Amino acid sequence: MTRLRVHTSERSCMIDITPQVRRVVDASGVQSGICLVYVPHTTAGVTVNEGADPAVVEDILTHLEKLVPRGAAYRHEEGNSAAHIKATLVGQSAEILVESRQLVLGTWQAIFLCEFDGPREREVLVKVVSG
Ligand code: ZN
Repeated sequence: MTRLRVHTSERSCMIDITPQVRRVVDASGVQSGICLVYVPHTTAGVTVNEGADPAVVEDILTHLEKLVPRGAAYRHEEGNSAAHIKATLVGQSAEILVESRQLVLGTWQAIFLCEFDGPREREVLVKVVSG
């Protein structure tokens, strides 16, 4: 398992971590298998989505905020329930196939760390399994 450290600079943002994950896959030497990308956090997530047009990321963040507004009434006393809910909607992990020692991603796909309660230092755990 490899631990990546990712600094997030805004309260909500999506950071393309594909280059870092590619390096882990390459260093693993695994020719064929699966790459698991996981965040051990409750207010951040991981997703695979379009990395070509930055407007897609903006739309995702804007509409998640409309769906789960930060200022709505929540019971959790820490005051960051919206971030917890968004993290649950996005999910904590992504699995990407590995073939020929490469991530199998579509032309427009990228792997994103989704921050919902930043800025913070986040950890992304990557495990490449042969099989
Ligand atoms: Zn909390």
